[in-house]
Amino acid sequence: MIDLHTHSLFSDGTDSPEALARAGAEAGLAALALTDHDTLEGLERFMAMQPEVPTQLLPGIELSCHFMGSPLHMLGLFLDFRDPGLLERVQTMRRRRLERNRTMVRRLQARSVPITWEQVAAEAPTDLISRTHFARVLVRNGAAASPEDAFRRLIGADCPAYVPFPDLAPAEAARWIREAGGVAVVAHPGRGFPRGFRWDLAMRDLKRQGVQGLEAYYPDYGPLERAYFLELAATLDLVPCGGSDYHGGHKPGRPLGMAVPDEVLGRLQALRLR
Ligand code: AMP
Ligand code: MN
Ligand code: MN
Ligand code: MN
Repeated sequence: MIDLHTHSLFSDGTDSPEALARAGAEAGLAALALTDHDTLEGLERFMAMQPEVPTQLLPGIELSCHFMGSPLHMLGLFLDFRDPGLLERVQTMRRRRLERNRTMVRRLQARSVPITWEQVAAEAPTDLISRTHFARVLVRNGAAASPEDAFRRLIGADCPAYVPFPDLAPAEAARWIREAGGVAVVAHPGRGFPRGFRWDLAMRDLKRQGVQGLEAYYPDYGPLERAYFLELAATLDLVPCGGSDYHGGHKPGRPLGMAVPDEVLGRLQALRLR
């Protein structure tokens, strides 16, 4: 078992980087990547756990992109998380995220939804604020029955108060990742896009834009969806990656680890540039 897609409290997970590394070892994982949203902040502490835990710890990120009108998430695995160019780029992205979050609060308030910027900011343990933090505030303020309800009616991608990240294209994200020595992988294809979206055509296009793999092993996939993405990866010669998208307490009941074949790690290693 390995896991190439997890989150810590530096984005919208709840585990500290140290706790995550220990949990990976307890789960008996051979390898574990921390891939927080749009931040590298947890990686120093995560990677410092390496002598302590036998699990191979890998640095990563999950970059929020936009592709053909829908949100696309790009995993960067094995990247050099101290690369000054990458840090600068991610910093800029964080500023855009902050502006977007403030706009979303204003849009919710304009619809008389009870929420304040201070509440949202207080909900996040670091300055990386995501919609999961919005969801928790909305539930506490009685504006939503559950986080799912908040995403369905108030902050989901098709809700009026939702503001996307319009700035980062997949080609640019893939370039950032490659220039920091990493491997670019499309996270959970099929999620967040309209039904019937042509992933076969999209992935061909994304490969030309620098993508090297796609997630074919993902907890929410049924057997047919997994088979579809495995075959697509084989057809396009993309590495079929996989991870749990573990968020600790933010997504209860989602354990660490996916049954990804061992050879996947070797194929990814061969593509890294540093
Ligand atoms: P953001 O990066 O601020 O747009 O927030 C995206 C995060 O919100 C995702 O990575 C998930 O953790 C969470 N999320 C998105 N959609 C849902 C949903 N329907 N239910 C629960 N969490 C969601
Ligand atoms: Mn998340
Ligand atoms: Mn994602
Ligand atoms: Mn994720």
